[in-house]
Amino acid sequence: MANTQQLNNLAEDVREEGLNQGSSMKDLVFDPITGDFRQVPRGTHHGEGDVVTEMTNKGFAADTVTPIVYLREGELQKADEKLNQKKTVPAFVEEVDEEGVFHICLEPQASKIHRYLEIPGFYTRDSSMMSNANMSTSRFCVLITEDCPEVWCRPLSPLKGKDWRKAEVFLIPSEENLFSRSKGILEVGILKNKRIMIVGLGSFGSQIAIELAKAGVGSFALMDFDRVELHNLSRHTATVHDLGRLKTNVIEEAILGKNPYAQVDKFPMNINEDLPLLYDEVEKADLVICATDNNTSRFNLSKALVEKQKIGIFGRAITRAEGGDVFRYRPGGPCYCCLVGAGNLQEEEISDVASARRDGRIAAYVSPEDAEAMVQVGLSSDIEPICNMMVKLSLVELSRGTESGITSLEEELIYDYYMWANRRERHYANWKPMPNAGGMPTILRWYGAKIEKEEHCPICSQAIRLEGDTDEKVAGLDDIEIDLQ
Ligand SMILES: [Zn+2]
Repeated sequence: MANTQQLNNLAEDVREEGLNQGSSMKDLVFDPITGDFRQVPRGTHHGEGDVVTEMTNKGFAADTVTPIVYLREGELQKADEKLNQKKTVPAFVEEVDEEGVFHICLEPQASKIHRYLEIPGFYTRDSSMMSNANMSTSRFCVLITEDCPEVWCRPLSPLKGKDWRKAEVFLIPSEENLFSRSKGILEVGILKNKRIMIVGLGSFGSQIAIELAKAGVGSFALMDFDRVELHNLSRHTATVHDLGRLKTNVIEEAILGKNPYAQVDKFPMNINEDLPLLYDEVEKADLVICATDNNTSRFNLSKALVEKQKIGIFGRAITRAEGGDVFRYRPGGPCYCCLVGAGNLQEEEISDVASARRDGRIAAYVSPEDAEAMVQVGLSSDIEPICNMMVKLSLVELSRGTESGITSLEEELIYDYYMWANRRERHYANWKPMPNAGGMPTILRWYGAKIEKEEHCPICSQAIRLEGDTDEKVAGLDDIEIDLQ
């Protein structure tokens, strides 16, 4: 049986002779008669009992591939400061799917990113610590030097040798530089200090949270008491591995996956049952995304926004997501209640039976079979344009007053209310097919509308009445004058 040294010598020979050029990966099959390895293309069928190993451009795969390590730039300074007091600081090493790629952090990330394995390691400035007996179980050493940090690692099994070898190091930029690619379009430094509250982490809230994290928003308050269920998967960012998990946890993980420096506060609760907390959180936020699927929470939020004078972006889909709308509340302007009246719009999309029953949108006496038939969900691709508009409106509001690449959008997005149609069905049945619409509304286009403040609005006029009956006219889509842009 060949040992590692033999394999490496062979790999070296092959490399020197140029045999391995043009194809980075080969298999080596051990020939017990000649005692040599034959080089064969990767994936070629081998006989049973053959000793096969892979060879890469760098040598014999299993033992000489250089491990790849990702370090967080911002954490290196922190580790260095801690090393003023002691010789070593624990490092938390996580291997991604046993692929030879490791992420090293100061704090354990496993609770946040649950598909990682933890491996012991440490930060130090003193290279002699690598041979210190106290460190014998450590597999990784981040050596902080004057110049670039070095990372050394050694195999877990002593059978594979105990020697430290140097890994290839990549730095994850610090918070200031993480979103440098957006510079010139977004004022990243400003977004980093903004706090967004997202109420409802369904198909809307989940996408919007992740988009805002990608844009560089630094702080989030997430509110939703739901868990991921099978029927969510076709439209939600959650995956099958997230089934049964709280949506707040799933989305926190997704946000931190985009921006590990983000601050995420989770509230797995029904906002309608703890209004004081809702008001507190609205007060702390710079902008509130209302992505719930029921009017009770929309009205409660609307009231909190008016009272705390905060910007809110509301979005929703109507039945089967044949269309949808987005409403922006700005302090002093018309509120959500001015838009829809104190009654309910009946055409709301019902995306799951349990929550619709809780909110009274499906009455208790409706049989399970009939209730199931009332669930009418649209496609993820029908939801996506509406989420996108909510994100753009949010970014415009958060960047208002700064010079950025999206300043010009402020001139386009001047309305409080926007409508979108995905298909020429029901509500939009009279709309013309796109090619022969002339100047008339067509699907797949945004239409902005001016909304007037209702003189007797129960929320934003003066006396605040919630969920009470009023004689107010319920404004439907037909009542809204479309302003063709
Ligand atoms: Zn109002």
